[in-house]
Amino acid sequence: MAEQQNDYKGPATMEKITSLAKRRGFVFQSSEIYGGQAGAWDYGPLGIELKNRIAQTWWKEMTQLHDDIVGLDAAILMHPRVWEASGHVENFTDPLVDCKKCKARFRADQIDPEKLAKKECPECGGELTDTRKFNLMFKTNIGAVEDSSSIIYLRPETAQGIYVNYKNIIQSNRMKIPFGIAQIGKAFRNEIVTKNFIFRTCEFEQMEMQFFVKPGTDEEWFNTWRERRWKYYEKLGVKMDHLRWHRHGPDELAHYAKDAYDIEYLFPMGWKELEGVHNRSNYDLSRHMQFSGKDLQYIDQDNGNERYIPFIIETSAGLTRSLLMLLCDAYDEEYVGTGDPATSDKNSDDWRTVLRFHPNLAPITVAVLPLMKKDGLAELAQDIRAELKEDFATDYDQSGAIGRRYRRQDEAGTPFCVTIDYQSKEDNTVTLRFRDSMEQVRVPRSQLAERIRSEIKNYKRIK
Ligand code: ATP
Repeated sequence: MAEQQNDYKGPATMEKITSLAKRRGFVFQSSEIYGGQAGAWDYGPLGIELKNRIAQTWWKEMTQLHDDIVGLDAAILMHPRVWEASGHVENFTDPLVDCKKCKARFRADQIDPEKLAKKECPECGGELTDTRKFNLMFKTNIGAVEDSSSIIYLRPETAQGIYVNYKNIIQSNRMKIPFGIAQIGKAFRNEIVTKNFIFRTCEFEQMEMQFFVKPGTDEEWFNTWRERRWKYYEKLGVKMDHLRWHRHGPDELAHYAKDAYDIEYLFPMGWKELEGVHNRSNYDLSRHMQFSGKDLQYIDQDNGNERYIPFIIETSAGLTRSLLMLLCDAYDEEYVGTGDPATSDKNSDDWRTVLRFHPNLAPITVAVLPLMKKDGLAELAQDIRAELKEDFATDYDQSGAIGRRYRRQDEAGTPFCVTIDYQSKEDNTVTLRFRDSMEQVRVPRSQLAERIRSEIKNYKRIK
């Protein structure tokens, strides 16, 4: 299995990322004071900023930059027939086995086939149960009565909300094929294996775009969307040698798919799926047409009212998984001492941990730091911060030695620090410090915002 190999050579480990995420307020374990809730995580002050910026970047890329794509925000709760039509009630299952002795639960496709054949628990050697299908959808009840007529599901993907609205959108917004609908939202899956921090969780967010095309043009559109999605990651500034395509073989293809590729990222635990680009054929709309009894054919008014059921090209990325990817991608440890890095203690001040986020994604864009609290420097710094915050996400920090404050901002991924010193009072200049190079330049206060804007626009990652 390609997934198992690990080519990762970088400085990050999942332990380091998890610990940094907690220490700096990116991600906390859900309900931690009660011992934690598996499969659920909370996004702290820096985490929500990062998540919002990823979502905004994706949204801009998929809607603002494409005249033929519009947005949607569908409800999480949908009519239960939706999930029968989509095939989820029948097919959205993992094969599970339990150990009768130690009670551990495994995905049958993830244990050694020999042990599975012998029904031997990989942990304790006890006897395993037969393999059974376990549906990943969370089921609950709606209304006052808890019986089979009140069953409702938490959506396991955002896509179906788009399919059932496709006619509404054609009518309300006069969309013509080819066109797309983009949506960002929560999805829920009762995942049994939820290790690797926020990689695979029971509650997560997806960024999906469904592109409706005329049958016969689907393969070309599929290639176009593969190219576009690849370029998107280039624009995000991630390490491109950590990305690769994986085409689904016949055994992997989902029941709806005609062709499917994943974009995989090289995480510290190896190559893993980040986003799927799928040719879903006309499966979804045909099924909804059949189950709802509504005519979901497209009527091509420019072409003699030709009728057809559109094919769908889907791009489906994980928002929370992208956040993990960006944390891993940005993570760096750098020697900043003057001696020999090989013999130096990694926990000493000669090393810094830095998150090299693209400035458009960094939770804090500019930190304002007065060299001293006294002599009016704090007031001046607050004044400069107030000026900058109209345009940038800012932070203010006046406590501790300036070197330590820079390190704190490096660890939060803040690309620019502005330091106010005694000279600032004299000549209205400030020091602008760059996270990646640690270079410092003197800039007149009047040109500061413009300079930061141009640095963001021309940003190139150096490492
Ligand atoms: P897997 O095979 O890993 O379970 P999948 O192929 O079922 O995932 P899709 O249904 O194609 O995944 O979902 C699209 C995207 O949503 C994935 O590429 C991933 O980024 C994200 N995603 C899916 N499941 C989860 C999850 N449990 N936790 C976090 N993100 C997820």
